[in-house]
Amino acid sequence: MNTEQVEIRPGETPPRRRRALALVSGGLDSMLAVKVMQAQGIEVEGVNFYTGFCVEGHTHAIRERDRKKPKRNNALWVAEQLGIKLHIIDISEEYKNVVLYPQYGYGAHMNPCLDCKIFMVNKATLMLRQAEDLAEQCAADGDGFDFIITGEVIGQRPKSQLKWTMPLIARESGAEDRLLRPLCAKNLPPTLPEREGWVDREQLHSITGRSRAPQMALAKAFGLEEYAQPAGGCCFLTDESYSKKLGDLWQARKRKDYDLDDILLLKIGRHLRPRPHFKLIISREAGETEFLQGYRYQFSSFEMVSHGGPLTLIDGEFESEEEALWAASIVARFSQGREAEEVTMTWQAPKGVGKLLKVKPMPADDIPKEWHVGGT
Ligand code: SF4
Repeated sequence: MNTEQVEIRPGETPPRRRRALALVSGGLDSMLAVKVMQAQGIEVEGVNFYTGFCVEGHTHAIRERDRKKPKRNNALWVAEQLGIKLHIIDISEEYKNVVLYPQYGYGAHMNPCLDCKIFMVNKATLMLRQAEDLAEQCAADGDGFDFIITGEVIGQRPKSQLKWTMPLIARESGAEDRLLRPLCAKNLPPTLPEREGWVDREQLHSITGRSRAPQMALAKAFGLEEYAQPAGGCCFLTDESYSKKLGDLWQARKRKDYDLDDILLLKIGRHLRPRPHFKLIISREAGETEFLQGYRYQFSSFEMVSHGGPLTLIDGEFESEEEALWAASIVARFSQGREAEEVTMTWQAPKGVGKLLKVKPMPADDIPKEWHVGGT
């Protein structure tokens, strides 16, 4: 804790504590960045931007397979552990432009990490200015934020966290030198909070590279025993299979676009595209079936009647009834009646009008791997 003594004369108001706004992802790095600031007596509030592509809190909440994973919003959990207020802001609509037209391109998959960082720091900068304006309007010294912190580490990510991208993010986001990265600050030029003496540069860190060992050592030093595991990435855009599904969606629609339902549905079920004009979204377990039920007013669907089996949403239109029967035979392959001579299912329009179909399940060998969008 920074315990500098300040002399306050009669009639003077004490200098306020400096306040930082932290980008909190829910991972270890942002958690540590906040800890480092708190250790210097800085007041911190967190902001978490909801893009719709977050890994936690959705698939883990739905799928049986993921039941052992904690059903928590990691950003909220981190905020609770750190004792800070968290602002969760839905940016999913504005974020579309970042995903669709990234100025600095994509990473290994559909992850526009560099543009994403610029966008998020920019959003935080706007919050910082709004808070400053508000503080001025209220003439209530102490309500604003003085700077932004992130858990970025040079060399941690192949594209967005490189030495040359650090000043780029600061500049393009508009945060300039009010952006401090406590975990790697000593490898970067001093920022405003350091130059002004609000934070002590000597107590900041110089972590670089992809190894997680320095962060783990720091976590231990702070007595942090539990934190979200970094493996698996923080968002679906870094996932190969998910990125392929997103690319397939754009190709099928002949335009780069999506809405929130699209990106949620890409997380759920088996996606099979047997023909360019329709895709089958087939639930893999009870939790997914429940989830897909909520979309039956938007999509036509197949539902097994004679046997246990998946619920299937049909994204697209069949060209004929024969094609519908053929698609139903594909779906039947994934039901408990896969070995039966015939199964029955309903083919239901979004408004609820349905038809019974009787089909023979397609043999597994007749379902080529290429139909599985993004792998099985
Ligand atoms: S992994 Fe996702 S959330 Fe993280 S910087 Fe990249 S695009 Fe943004």
